Formats: sequence, C-alpha cells, structure tokens
Amino acid sequence: MARVQLDGITKRYSDIVAVDDMNLDIRDGEFVTFVGPSGCGKSTTMEMIAGLTTPSEGTVTIGDTDVTRFPPKDRGVAMVFQNIALFPHMDVYDNISFGLRLRDYDDEEIRERVERATEIVQLEGMLDRQPDEMSGGQRQRVAIARAIVRNPAVFLMDEPLANLDAKLRVHMRTELQRLHKELDTTIIYVTHDQAEAMTMSDRIAVINDGQLQQIDPPLVCYNEPANLFVAGFIGSPSMNLVAGEVTESGFRGEHLSVSFDPASVGVSPGDQVTLGVRPEDVYPAANAADATDPSGQFETFTDVLEPMGNEIFAYLQFEATSGGMDDDPRNQLLMSVDPDAAIAEDERQSVVLDREKLHLFETSSGDAIVHSLSGQYQATTTGPESGAAGGD
Ligand code: ADP
Repeated sequence: MARVQLDGITKRYSDIVAVDDMNLDIRDGEFVTFVGPSGCGKSTTMEMIAGLTTPSEGTVTIGDTDVTRFPPKDRGVAMVFQNIALFPHMDVYDNISFGLRLRDYDDEEIRERVERATEIVQLEGMLDRQPDEMSGGQRQRVAIARAIVRNPAVFLMDEPLANLDAKLRVHMRTELQRLHKELDTTIIYVTHDQAEAMTMSDRIAVINDGQLQQIDPPLVCYNEPANLFVAGFIGSPSMNLVAGEVTESGFRGEHLSVSFDPASVGVSPGDQVTLGVRPEDVYPAANAADATDPSGQFETFTDVLEPMGNEIFAYLQFEATSGGMDDDPRNQLLMSVDPDAAIAEDERQSVVLDREKLHLFETSSGDAIVHSLSGQYQATTTGPESGAAGGD
C-alpha cells in the first residue's frame, strides 16, 4: 500500500500539452479512477506514475519516495493493460509466476504467492491451462494475478476491461471491487467508461484537455459537478444545459425562466449563466409531488420517446415548429419518467423541474455557481405566447 502524489506534473510532446500541471494526492489504499474523453491525458498521466514516460515538469512521489526518475521496476507498481500480453506457449501457472522466476524467488515462495493470487481471482483448477483454452475474462484474470503476485504497493490499470464484451465487463467490475477490498491496495484505474468509474471508485479524477477538472467521490461528481465539463460528462444521458442570463429576478433563457434572488446566489443581473437539470429532475406536471421542490409548470411538446424498460426517456421540445420538431438541442429538454407514466409522442406536456436539483454555471468559465435553487425561489416559463408568464 502506498500514497501517490503528483505535484505539478506536465507532459509536452513538441507543441502538444498532453498533461497540464496535474496535482493529485491519492491516499494509501484508495481506488482512484481517471476518466475523460479519448486523448484527454489519462494514459500519459498513468505512464508517468508507472515510469514509462518522464514528465516534462513536476514530481511523482510514491510512499515517501520521489520516484520521478526511477525506472518502472523500482517503483513498487504493477500494471495491467487493455492488451493482455500472456505468453501463448506457457500455462497459467508459468504465466503468473514468470516475473517472480526472473527475480529468483525460491519455488516455495512462488507457489504460495501463485496460490493466493489464483484464489483471489478465482482461477483455481486452471493452472495448467494454456491461454488459448481460456475466455477473455479468464485471460484478464491471469493478467491481474500476475500483477498480484508481485505484492505491489500500487496497482495501475489502464482500460483493463476494454476488450471484453459488455456482460463480462459488468462482471469484472464487481470482481475488481472485490479484489480491492481483499488486497486493500492503492489502485489507479484508467477508463473512458463512466459506468466503470462510477461503480468502482472511491474517487473519480475527471480530466479534460490534460487538465484535472474535479477529483471527488462519484456521487459528489454527479450531484455537485465542479464545472460544465463535468456536468456534461458524468451522467448518462447527460444533464440538460440551458444557456441564458441573470435578470433582476433570476435566470432567463430563451424558453425557460427560473426566479430567484440573484444576490443570494452571488450573481448579478447581466451575468451569462447556464442552467443545468438532470433528466430525472424533470417531472410531468401530473407527478409534481414527486419532486422535492417542484418549480412552476411550463409547457412543452413530446417528441421522441425511448422506452428503456426501467424508465422512459422523453425528448421534449419547448416549441412546436411548423412542419415537425427541430433538432436544435437548445430547444430540447430530456426528461426521464417511470415506465408506466401516461405519456405519448406528439402531445402537449406540462413539466416541472425540481428546484432542489437545479445547477447554475458561469457560461464563460464553466465554473459551477450553485447546485440547488431550492427555497423561496419561483420558476416560470418564457412561453411562446406568454412572454414571461406562468409560475407557481
Ligand atoms: P487518453 O489516455 O486520455 O486517451 P493520452 O494520454 O493517450 O490520452 O494522450 C493525451 C494527448 O497526448 C493526446 O493528444 C495524444 O495524441 C498525445 N500523445 C500521447 N502520447 C504521445 C506521444 N508519444 N507523442 C506525441 N503525442 C502523444
């Protein structure tokens, strides 16, 4: 087990800044996941912790040791990658023990470590199998066992499940959580799959453009996203984001206004802000009582419905346009409703928002301002006919 600290880590490739002044303090025994879109710098950060890439600036500390210039083998880390490189001509036992044999451990020690590792990843009884006699998930478990036998202070896992089919990925997710519990070791995990990040991690580090956007427990990233990027990235489907500005009486967008006292939120009339609301925090007006603090209702039209089985995603339009609905996301709002909700396509739909769950962001910087507009505030619509009418 070990703490891992990154201080001002930067990696430049000629004019590309792959990682930009990253500061992270990962606690001993913590499971931290790096998540973000492809090319955001996740793997490069991981490679600098592993020692496969040297930072342009900054330091990497593992335990109490500055390992910035150490080769990978001297860092006490073990890596598991997306492409599992097992030796095809070796059986499972030899694959798992290969690194230990290279380091001249005695046979008894090797046998004990392999037995313990195979027990943890549940590969008992398979030690004499060849890799081509195993499923993708079993081969991935061999790769994990090979990392476990080294007793690393830190596990580094870069998209280890990416090549597995969807069902197996879900299964391996729970296995990795169990593994973390059992080993009690620091795990740093890279994925672009936010479901993996949400389900396994103690904390998620959300990265974009080489920069750390937020590092927090999954539900904090979900409920209190630090900025517009995190708000849009974490959560599927994404949070609805409505651009507008602050008026004397609150927020005003093209189709939707929410009344609140600007001073109480620390904003001023004229400020350009973006209102965020997750699909599950939009309710049909008939179910307004389900919201903790329902806003005044406003009128939309249902466009497409997507029944998912456990819920229905309803794409709402603020205005009916002649000749059909338009695709401009600024005119749309996504609502998630119960599967038995009385809702049909192409009909008027009055909806309310849960003010307790409304987010405000500064549009230019993207920074979050507030994660609830609950209290004495009032919500109104800017309806096509009514101007700024409506409300509670
Ligand atoms: P991620 O793992 O999030 O997909 P990477 O860390 O692999 O992202 O890459 C971050 C950025 O750095 C990308 O723009 C990528 O093209 C660039 N990059 C990564 N490795 C190299 C390299 N060896 N040479 C040049 N550019 C690189």
